[in-house]
Amino acid sequence: MSPVTNPTASPAAANAPVFDADRAFAHVRRMVEIGPRPAGSKELARTREMIVNELRSYNLQVSVDEFDTRTPVGKRRMANVTAELAGESSDQIIIASHYDTKLVKEFRFVGANDSGSSTGTVMEIARVLALSHQNKKPRFTLRFVFFDGEEAFCENWDDCGTEKEPDNTYGSRRYVAQLIDKGELKRVRALILLDMIGYKNLQIPRESTGTAWLTDIIWTTARETNHAAQFVNESESITDDHIPFLNAGINAVDLIQFGGYGEYWHTAEDTLDKISPQSLKAVGDVVLASLPRIEERLMNKNTR
Ligand SMILES: [Zn+2]
Repeated sequence: MSPVTNPTASPAAANAPVFDADRAFAHVRRMVEIGPRPAGSKELARTREMIVNELRSYNLQVSVDEFDTRTPVGKRRMANVTAELAGESSDQIIIASHYDTKLVKEFRFVGANDSGSSTGTVMEIARVLALSHQNKKPRFTLRFVFFDGEEAFCENWDDCGTEKEPDNTYGSRRYVAQLIDKGELKRVRALILLDMIGYKNLQIPRESTGTAWLTDIIWTTARETNHAAQFVNESESITDDHIPFLNAGINAVDLIQFGGYGEYWHTAEDTLDKISPQSLKAVGDVVLASLPRIEERLMNKNTR
């Protein structure tokens, strides 16, 4: 007698790295413990150091782009963090989150969901993809980008700033401007942006300004991997770090729970107890499962 082997359970598949909900949640906890992390603060510098050290430990090429920018509260020094996993093609897919928290003076705002949840999830996605590609390059170059200064300094998104110099999305606008300066715009084939994806009752609507085919792939994948409860068939329009990319002609999607579900948004209640490791994992798993399909689509169609 020899044992019957299951042909679908190959050793490689059994050892394939998977998204670890506890690791992602631990990142969120560390950020919440650092406390409020508005752009330009020493707390955000500590957060950045934590992110950079973690990404370097996955053997990713990490770079920090520091820049000074004018804001309604004066000049502020900001920094985007980029970790790269080189692919067979120099064309890129970006998976991103902002990592600053909103400057709030009236109460202590620790931003467990906004932006701890998405930052921790992108970090864990980066670890899984780095491990998965130790012996074989991914098709596309994968970039994990952490934007500074997504939040407005004034109370509301549009209270201050001008159309040319809005008081929000400082880091993502800087990132796209750099792509243009370096002539790299055409190399960026897609952006998957995560923001506020940690609530226990996670319900992400389709973000309607995003690229339709990219959104369709992610929602189809969610349905097929039993995550239809988290990726709901409602539609909402959100202004976020994906807008500068869309404006530059880059395919982009924003995974975000806002609107009617964002009840703790920019309040003192956006704390760690609202965050579910399983929600982080649902988003991580869906993004990881969607990635080969997105790559396939980009290989087959010359989609801008
Ligand atoms: Zn926010």
